[in-house]
Amino acid sequence: MSADSRARDDHAAEIGASFDVVVVGAGFAGLYMVHRLRGLGFTVRVYEAGGGVGGTWYWNRYPGARCDVESMQYSFSFSEDLDQQWDWSEKYAPQPEILAYANHVADRFDLRRDIRFDTRVTAATFDEDTRRWRIETDRGDNVSAQFCIMAVGCLSATNRPPFEGLETFKGPIYHTGEWPHDGVDFTGLRVGVIGTGSSAIQSIPIIAQQASALTVFQRTATYTVPAWNETLTPEYRAAIKADYPALRAKARARPTGFYFPFNMNPALEATPEDRERQYEEAWQRGGLPFLGAYGDLLFDKEANDTIAEFARRKIRGIVKDPATAELLCPDNVFGCKRLCVDTGYFETYNLPHVELVDVSRTPIERFTPRGIAVNGVEYPVDAIVCATGFAAMTGSFDRIRITGRNGLTLAEKWQAGPRTYLGLATVGFPNLFTITGPGSPSVLASMIQAIEQHVDWLADCIAHLRDIGAASIEPIDRYEDDWVAHVNEVSQVSLRSTCSSWYVGANIPGRPRVFMPYIGGFPVYVQKCNEVMSNGFEGFVIDGARSTNDAPQVRLTERWRVPLDVEVISPAAIAARRVPVV
Ligand code: FAD
Ligand code: NAP
Repeated sequence: MSADSRARDDHAAEIGASFDVVVVGAGFAGLYMVHRLRGLGFTVRVYEAGGGVGGTWYWNRYPGARCDVESMQYSFSFSEDLDQQWDWSEKYAPQPEILAYANHVADRFDLRRDIRFDTRVTAATFDEDTRRWRIETDRGDNVSAQFCIMAVGCLSATNRPPFEGLETFKGPIYHTGEWPHDGVDFTGLRVGVIGTGSSAIQSIPIIAQQASALTVFQRTATYTVPAWNETLTPEYRAAIKADYPALRAKARARPTGFYFPFNMNPALEATPEDRERQYEEAWQRGGLPFLGAYGDLLFDKEANDTIAEFARRKIRGIVKDPATAELLCPDNVFGCKRLCVDTGYFETYNLPHVELVDVSRTPIERFTPRGIAVNGVEYPVDAIVCATGFAAMTGSFDRIRITGRNGLTLAEKWQAGPRTYLGLATVGFPNLFTITGPGSPSVLASMIQAIEQHVDWLADCIAHLRDIGAASIEPIDRYEDDWVAHVNEVSQVSLRSTCSSWYVGANIPGRPRVFMPYIGGFPVYVQKCNEVMSNGFEGFVIDGARSTNDAPQVRLTERWRVPLDVEVISPAAIAARRVPVV
């Protein structure tokens, strides 16, 4: 990979320093967390493996990277001034603009002074005597904190499959999730792209414009919906800004944490003609909201078949070569894997220099010095792009040695799948918190919403613990068990649990198959978190408090109170009520 031209953070190692809170990660989660904690007067140290803020948007600089939730919603909502003053240029902003936004937030709220960049946390160990965490980094830092907050990201640990012969390949190998900062010029090169998930789908059309030949290695065909991305006009932005809080409130009330019109009616009750019209209209609106065309699409296989067939017809209508079109037609449940949003993806396969290679039955055999071999055939390439995704949800935890009470490591505890209470904390690891951890809506919601809700809950929780002079907080086994069972049970209702996606860890060989995010819907989850807090942190043991915990003066951040006029749909009712969860 090409060198990164920026200067490294050359801070001297801190040894023995003590903080109220250590935060790991300076993506959107870490940034907002430090802002809230500092506002409450806590001392905070943030460690970030990257050389700057932005997390996902710092690392994923591949061509075509952009968000797939509309930017006017995929942004922080905690500051009305920020909302009013920041102007998004496009419906789905490109990566450089989202990164610029993250940098703007860091500067605007003066967050950098608490962050140590280029510093990877390697170990976090709970000291049972002091009830504090000791944090160690790859730069020699060794500090302690009462609380340790993992803001390490759901999609931050790249998956680099150990292809045979990898080291023999003579050209460069890139991963979309760790893209060189100085960019890559593929002009005149023969490029191989492995993977057809969201990252591949965004990058393939752009790489094809540069490369002299492009070979795509596809293991699973992908459903993708056109973004119909466009420049945002000043009038459009002004209309939203005229009542931004209303849009934010509507978004919070949605199962997905972002707002789009959806139709609750069942697909199977519509006539085929009406369905066709409805799907066509939804396709013309484009993006993830396509799944909101009907209410039962992710709950009823027969209903799902109708949208899947519509999508396959679209592919066959775009891709001219019938054999290639058939290979590109997925045969699994529509929207089971994360739906992709594209600009000109299928059209790319009509270009004469673009080839699709099916590796579903005969996997990639090996990398050779000059290409990639599949089924005895060598496909010559000069550069390889691994768009092979992430060890999702738990991958970044696995890469830190986290040791809790009685010497138990988190990796040991989560061996059969992650276990948390509310995706916020886990038994055996007092004072350790996770932002958008497994067992919370996280990747099934617009993630900035999910992040803000977790950060506010944690800030309120930690401030409360200080108020009552508590030394530690830890979930209770029974509550964690019930929550894990509930997360699992709700997932069974959705067709989403039926395929081999990264939601269930199935993209990485050897990982336990567990549906990791909470699919019960964002407002239901928010209400549950609110209840837990209002009931005196029900399900947690709080130790060493000066005052009892019977009647806590909890400080629930106002905007997370689920308004009375919002219809909260219970998880049990989700299937019956047919609520689309994109
Ligand atoms: P991240 O942004 O992943 O930040 C975590 C940070 O923790 C990273 O910078 C990492 O370097 C750091 N870190 C991890 N381990 C350590 C360690 N041991 N020591 C120090 N630092 C560490 N979500 C949406 O809702 N809408 C979208 O449109 C969308 N688009 C996406 C596009 C791409 C290409 C990807 C990969 C994800 C996308 N997501 C999207 C999900 C995205 O990850 C979240 O929206 C959000 O940016 C996550 O923020 P975060 O701070 O929780 O995690
Ligand atoms: P991904 O969805 O996991 O896709 C990885 C691709 O690589 C899949 O096609 C996978 O095939 C393939 N693959 C993995 N290992 C392989 C192997 N050994 N041989 C052949 N193929 C292999 O990863 P991603 O595209 O980086 O996206 C991850 C998530 O990040 C998305 O789902 C989304 O949430 C987010 N994201 C969002 C956007 C956006 O539009 N805003 C863009 C990028 C990412 P299988 O399907 O067979 O496993």
